Amino acid sequence: SEEKSLNFIEEIIESDLEAGKYKSILTRFPPEPNGYLHVGHAKSICLNFGLAQKYGGKTNLRFDDTNPEKEETEYVESIKQDIEWLGFQWAEELYTSDYFEQLYQLAVKLIEKGLAYVDDSSSEEIAIQKGTPTQPGVANTYRSRSVAENLQLFADMRAGKYNDGEKVLRAKIDLAAPNMLMRDPLLYRIKRAHHHRTGDDWCIYPMYDFAHGQSDSLEAITHSICTLEFVPHRPLYDWLIAQLDIFPSHQYEFARLNMSYTVMSKRKLLKLVNDNIVSGWDDPRMPTISGMRRRGYTPKAIRDFCERIGVAKRDNLIDLSLLEFFVREDLNKKADRRMVVFDPLKVVITNYADGQLENLSAENNPEDADSGTRNIPFTKEIYIERDDFMENPPKKYFRLAPGQMVRLKYAYIIRCDEVVKDEAGNITEVHCSYLPESKSGDDSSGIKVKGTLHWVSIAEAKHIEIRLYDRLFTAEDMDDTEGEYTDYLNEHSLQVIQKAYAEPALLDATQQTPYQFLRKGYFILDKNSSPDHIIFNRTVGLKDSWAK
Ligand code: ATP
Ligand code: MG
Ligand code: MG
Repeated sequence: SEEKSLNFIEEIIESDLEAGKYKSILTRFPPEPNGYLHVGHAKSICLNFGLAQKYGGKTNLRFDDTNPEKEETEYVESIKQDIEWLGFQWAEELYTSDYFEQLYQLAVKLIEKGLAYVDDSSSEEIAIQKGTPTQPGVANTYRSRSVAENLQLFADMRAGKYNDGEKVLRAKIDLAAPNMLMRDPLLYRIKRAHHHRTGDDWCIYPMYDFAHGQSDSLEAITHSICTLEFVPHRPLYDWLIAQLDIFPSHQYEFARLNMSYTVMSKRKLLKLVNDNIVSGWDDPRMPTISGMRRRGYTPKAIRDFCERIGVAKRDNLIDLSLLEFFVREDLNKKADRRMVVFDPLKVVITNYADGQLENLSAENNPEDADSGTRNIPFTKEIYIERDDFMENPPKKYFRLAPGQMVRLKYAYIIRCDEVVKDEAGNITEVHCSYLPESKSGDDSSGIKVKGTLHWVSIAEAKHIEIRLYDRLFTAEDMDDTEGEYTDYLNEHSLQVIQKAYAEPALLDATQQTPYQFLRKGYFILDKNSSPDHIIFNRTVGLKDSWAK
């Protein structure tokens, strides 16, 4: 097998292990439970869990739940389901909120060291006092409060003596630091909000910068991997760990996954859900893991995609068609084949006996020798696709046309003898004759035809609804658009075919079974499907139809 070169994080891990810095590695995946996971999170999951697997380490799942207003238990449950579905298992399920007491004590330790102070300024005042990148900040009088006073005020903040926003706890670092985040960053704020786990126990909550690195350290995370926007936070991450003298976790950054024709911010996705622009977080058009699952994407395809795009150090835009490539590749091997006619044209086989029914045997999947066969009923009247027939075809048209022959897949060769029209001149049916000696698998006709069509028996066909999806947005790079992102919604992202006609064997379908509808793409039963109203989602077409 081919040796793959290491990515930069693997290089760091290997040299850390070689140098004996750690006995084993511990990574974490730290979602904020304020929405459903999207494919960008899948990238982070594959990376964190994948590295631990590769180097015999472990991965914690840590819910980064320090913003009580936005977080909900529903999101926690969906996140766990999505990670398991992707094929990963965490070592421990943890919550930043479980560390609230320990984090509080760490903040007290900083105050005791003279490295944090309570500030009464408003957020506007703090912003002004911080200065600008070219202008150093100025200290206010609160900055010189004594340790004793700060300890008392911080305890009073916790005890609920002050209103929301009245005071904050800040680190005392350097108001002239070139990195604005080092200019006495906020560590705690007062916020009276009900927390999904700690209820009303706390009215102060740690800021991301104080909670994240300290939680990493409390868990003894060795490699804390995050996205590039946290590069400027790293000096603060390191400063806090050094001053508190706690386990030295290290932060490493890689480029976020951005994909063409979609948005990935949870805030933006939530708005699509709340405004009913999509049917929910798991709408098959959403870039969420739950949406992709409902649409029929497979965990393997998503993992292979994440593996292929690798770990970049610079932001880039990945083409959605690359993910679709991996979806097709996986489904081609797994999906049984079925025939479904979307837009029917009636064909009468005039030399086939009335009322006769032949059960033709057909392989389920030519890519899988173990997939077995199914029966397909053949009768005198069948449907083919309307666009597989032309009355006046151009040259090199190999589908059905007057006087021309085609093969019906798994069945016989037919020839079109007559076109039947209504008074308005619309074609209502075509009359054909079949060659009895041309049966698939037992063909002695000696006739070669170039076109092969899918079809269904009219009498035996089942009615199904088909949902076809297209990209959700019209702009390739949604980060590079002007105005509202909702201005770029693709109006044609969902197309419903109310009544398509399926061969009976399709009714074996369960939600987990992918199918290839011949010449149409890959499909999966929708979760809202019922025996009276069968609904299939198109996962992806057979070929990349998004020609640029
Ligand atoms: P969003 O902006 O979508 O809300 P987030 O980064 O705030 O994203 P978190 O729940 O905090 O969402 O993310 C959990 C982890 O997943 C973090 O480590 C984060 O860096 C990572 N992550 C989020 N989005 C992406 C992405 N597009 N590509 C790679 N990793 C991502
Ligand atoms: Mg976050
Ligand atoms: Mg976020």
